[in-house]
Amino acid sequence: MNEHLFYKFYQKTPLERKNILTNLSHLSDEKKANLLTGFNLPESVANQMIENQIGLYDLPLGIVPEVTVNGKTYTVPMVTEEPSVIAAASNGCKIIHRSGGFTTTQEKREMIGEIAIYDSPYSIEEIEKKLSKEIDHLFTIAHEAHPSIVKRGGGIQSIWVEKKQHPNHTFYVFYISVDTKEAMGANILNTILEALVSPIETFTNGTCIMAILSNLSTHSVVTTTCHIPFENLETKTISGEEIARRIEIASELSQVDPYRAATHNKGIMNGIDAVVIATGNDWRAIEAGAHAYATLSGTYQPFSKWFIHNDKKLVGTLSIPMPIGTVGGSISIHPAAQFSHELLMNPSAKELAVIIASIGLAQNFAALKALVTDGIQKGHMNLQVKSLALTAGATEEEIPQIIQLLKEQKHLNLETVQKILESIR
Ligand code: NDP
Repeated sequence: MNEHLFYKFYQKTPLERKNILTNLSHLSDEKKANLLTGFNLPESVANQMIENQIGLYDLPLGIVPEVTVNGKTYTVPMVTEEPSVIAAASNGCKIIHRSGGFTTTQEKREMIGEIAIYDSPYSIEEIEKKLSKEIDHLFTIAHEAHPSIVKRGGGIQSIWVEKKQHPNHTFYVFYISVDTKEAMGANILNTILEALVSPIETFTNGTCIMAILSNLSTHSVVTTTCHIPFENLETKTISGEEIARRIEIASELSQVDPYRAATHNKGIMNGIDAVVIATGNDWRAIEAGAHAYATLSGTYQPFSKWFIHNDKKLVGTLSIPMPIGTVGGSISIHPAAQFSHELLMNPSAKELAVIIASIGLAQNFAALKALVTDGIQKGHMNLQVKSLALTAGATEEEIPQIIQLLKEQKHLNLETVQKILESIR
């Protein structure tokens, strides 16, 4: 049904697209009305969100129609200022949808925090013994610090300690892992950590330098995978098998060259950040965690790998920490974030995490496919032209004519667009 609904969606006007979305039966009447009138954040709410608020800063909100994850097809909202991101994600998701979609795994979904102690007179062995004696007491204090998360079925899950040596100080870092259920959990965790500082200082006889959550969320890692048959890869001039081989080689390059890995991962974050922002989540937290995770082996690695399976299919797999929430922060107060959750059929935090990771893998697939075939600039510049035309002062009506005339030009830059604009006026 959706395939038909979204046919040539990109060629419609914004109003036509909004009208198409109002056909989605899972959207409430209120959200359908919002869609048509706009999701404006009231200034009175914005003023409560930050200090020294003086205005609002708009970014475009778009959608990717066919994102099939674990057999369920979603319409995914994305907020981005970069012209090619949604087009590339849509293209990647369409091919992956035709190939059976994404399948995902996720071991657990917990947030880790740390309490760092220095100047303790004990050895790490003595500290570990003391921790195992105190552990029940520490669990009780953690539960009492945030009883509502325990009532929701979450709360502290584990505590362990590691010695970290700096030339000037020996640190004993106590790591606390907490199931924060539907929340990202920064505030939940920080409340629990602060309650644990005093008892830990007492039994270590040391001093706490800080108690804070870590954005390196190794207990919230999700993995998404797709299998693309060669026939779904072929272009008019290159066989599917050849494209698959080139993507495999491109993937190998990102595993041995950190300069390439950084750009490979930036492309993945183009998609991930756009959904994280649309759903009202903290994208700095996701960015920090993702890049720290990429270095855990000792060299900066790509989040995804691509390889050929059985000489028939290209397989892509991506693993990344994704500690996002469906409650808390700005999620329940920002009208566009609320719309985004409803558009996604109100997924749980775990479900949303794998949808977001899958968009990242689709984005990566589209970028690699372009890079190893036409090169990235062809598609990019076509979309960039619209931004250039707007920068040159063109009206919406003038843009199609400018795009047409630009096809005959060698250099796509602001000067050329300005000259064309003068000539058509
Ligand atoms: P909040 O404190 O805003 O919200 C979480 C609260 O939502 C919970 O305490 C809980 O309160 C309530 N809640 C309602 N339903 C549920 C449910 N099903 N599961 C879990 N909680 C539920 O958010 P977080 O603790 O998630 O913190 C996220 C915010 O912290 C973000 O805005 C982030 O930017 C910010 N932040 C990030 C940091 C970082 O990343 N380093 C550091 C500091 C802040 P109750 O149970 O009492 O109803």
